[in-house]
Amino acid sequence: YTKRAGRNGYHVFEMSMHLDTRERLDMMLDLGAALERQQFVLMYQPKFDLHNNVVGFEALLRWQHPTLGLVLPDHFVSLAEKSGLIIPIGEWVLNAACRQMKEWYSSGCEKWHVAINLSALQFSHERLLDVVRQVLARWELPPHCLTLEITETVAMHNAKKTLEILNQLSQLGVNISIDDFGTGYSSLLYLKRLPANELKIDKAFISNLGTGTLMNDQAIVSAIINLGHTLNFKVIAEGVENDEQKSFLQELGCDGLQGFGLAEPMWVDEVKDYYSTECKAG
Ligand code: C2E
Ligand code: MG
Ligand code: MG
Ligand code: MG
Repeated sequence: YTKRAGRNGYHVFEMSMHLDTRERLDMMLDLGAALERQQFVLMYQPKFDLHNNVVGFEALLRWQHPTLGLVLPDHFVSLAEKSGLIIPIGEWVLNAACRQMKEWYSSGCEKWHVAINLSALQFSHERLLDVVRQVLARWELPPHCLTLEITETVAMHNAKKTLEILNQLSQLGVNISIDDFGTGYSSLLYLKRLPANELKIDKAFISNLGTGTLMNDQAIVSAIINLGHTLNFKVIAEGVENDEQKSFLQELGCDGLQGFGLAEPMWVDEVKDYYSTECKAG
């Protein structure tokens, strides 16, 4: 294991090279106890529309490990997925995010939504629909205040089954966003039938925008935006890091932006800074 001081002075865990068998086992055991030890926490990254208004926040999971520090999801989500732990962890995320959204809603931020990420196993889990329904009811949260993000790869995995699940979810009234779009292999025939609201262009295509070097990525991003609009999706971009990328995306008519260049993931307290400017009752 290695640790470094992160952006805000927090210790952020990073996988040095790879973990040996013993370390992997330790981590698995720790992960199994993390829920009841209340070591999970959510950070929130704003999502903006084209006029720089906040439209919602994506909940991003972090594991506060007693010795490792703050562990990012890339280091434990696949482990949790393999062990099945992602199911109870994912339910915790859904509940915590909706409870938080309800608080914002009650503070006057009725137009915001909270977005959560679903892994492959969560998405295909038989109880997903019930759990979403129950959590919305528990917090008396209007369904349009919740967005579920699934990656393009997960969405394309089993087309028939996916359409069934997405149709049921969208009947509940929640929003569906197709995350990391462009890295999977969407069939256009299938894409046009997908009951999703939003395509989120993967940050891999955004990082080279505006540098003038890679015309390919500009053409791809432009094509995704046009295709998305033709099929009646909102199209948003993740990983926007600078003004050049931002204005390029704005010119192309991209509907939403997210990225370090606009706002980094933040602790829930810091979200309050957005109340007064964004919410009527704030
Ligand atoms: P994602 O859903 O595609 O989230 C975007 C990731 O990119 C986040 O990393 C975010 O902090 C980071 N990011 C945001 N803006 C920028 C930028 O301008 N530049 C760069 N380079 N990165 C940016 P994070 O929080 O480490 O999450 C990584 C992935 O872990 C997420 O990718 C998502 O797939 C997964 N994940 C996060 N939270 C959860 C969760 O609660 N449940 C599940 N199943 N997966 C989660
Ligand atoms: Mg996401
Ligand atoms: Mg993404
Ligand atoms: Mg991703």
